[in-house]
Amino acid sequence: MKNSSHFDFLVVGAGFAGSVVARELADAGRSVLVIDKRPHIGGNAYDELDAQGILVHRYGPHIFHTNGERIFAYLSRFTEWRPYEHRVRSVVDGHLYPFPINRDTLNRLYALDLDEAGAEAYYEQVRVPRDPVRTSEDVVLNSVGRDLYEKFFLNYTRKQWGMEPSQLKAGVAARIPTRTNTDDRYFTDTFQAMPKDGYTRMFEAMLDHPNIEVRVSTDYQNVKSSVSAGHTVYSGPIDAFFDYRFGRLPYRSLRFEHEHLASVEQFQETGTINYPNDHAFTRITEFKHLTGQEHPGTSIVREYPQADGDPYYPIPCEESEQLFKRYEELAKQEPGVTFVGRLAQYRYYNMDQVVGAALAAVKRLVD
Ligand code: FAD
Ligand code: UDP
Repeated sequence: MKNSSHFDFLVVGAGFAGSVVARELADAGRSVLVIDKRPHIGGNAYDELDAQGILVHRYGPHIFHTNGERIFAYLSRFTEWRPYEHRVRSVVDGHLYPFPINRDTLNRLYALDLDEAGAEAYYEQVRVPRDPVRTSEDVVLNSVGRDLYEKFFLNYTRKQWGMEPSQLKAGVAARIPTRTNTDDRYFTDTFQAMPKDGYTRMFEAMLDHPNIEVRVSTDYQNVKSSVSAGHTVYSGPIDAFFDYRFGRLPYRSLRFEHEHLASVEQFQETGTINYPNDHAFTRITEFKHLTGQEHPGTSIVREYPQADGDPYYPIPCEESEQLFKRYEELAKQEPGVTFVGRLAQYRYYNMDQVVGAALAAVKRLVD
């Protein structure tokens, strides 16, 4: 059991990484102090009611999807679910098209009438073969060719990352499939669902344990010398942990512009609409699609990518990964600290992958 002065573990960050680690350690009988510098738990998955009572995601839309049955079962201990399959349209030349690109996208965009085999033949005809496929430009050109690349990917990627697709690792664009069928879901994972009462409620349930104490609005930098703990699990940015010794690791940031539309029941036809070629924002998400909430008004968020601000995305490019490797070497020499999560491991992880990484990290700590 915990006492107020010493903890078996200090966990830095109350997002997926920190909360899963804390809960597992607590269940294994360890005392845990969880701190987060923000005034709330949940990390970037934090959601709350806005002034009009609509559940919104403060840090952009979070849609849960996984093929990991074990991960879904794990989170199901802390929440019930609302089945939800995310759909996205992309605006090109003023028209809305299914995205990821599928057969309907091709047929509507080019006034064709392709069947599945026809769509496959179409891609084969327009694709620009690349070998090896190293960058995000290679990925897209190699699968759908230049016109679709320029219409759907090039400018979105420039906006989102402030870089050319040719500078980004293949994995970034490889998140988006190309389809010959008419499936217009954004994800095809086995499990696609939203926490029924929201993410924050799920995190509250996860952290509700007699062995866990949570302190929000508490920065590790300010308390690291005063907290007594046997081991630290750190889920913040790895370069900050080491006082930027080798310089700053680039993380891409976003500005979120939330808006409530009082007498609009539905603003757009799908949960998210992408704007690859227009506007300074990348996409607009309408939360009621995600949550199923009923309300006479609606709330939306626009995402404006920017270089400075809170770190949201590690930047998957050669240069940053080289720098990360230097920090990773330092991390290996810190036996009293475990680094886990999207910012600490500098990986473009989805939520389920962070849960998986956290479960793996705990196993090493308690076995
Ligand atoms: P975080 O959630 O970032 O938590 C880290 C925490 O550490 C933060 O709360 C931070 O305040 C805290 N911290 C940092 N430094 C300190 C310090 N010095 N002292 C104390 N606390 C500190 N994933 C999906 O699966 N589906 C999606 O639809 C999806 N959409 C996304 C949309 C956006 C706009 C973004 C940015 C991400 C999205 N993700 C999505 C990814 C998802 O947010 C992450 O995988 C997940 O939240 C990462 O969890 P984490 O615990 O590693 O990091
Ligand atoms: N992407 C694009 N056009 C789009 C959507 C995505 O070019 O309309 C590219 C872009 O580089 C983006 C990446 O694909 O960063 C991954 O997209 P995803 O929707 O998975 O990004 P996230 O939800 O993580 O921001």
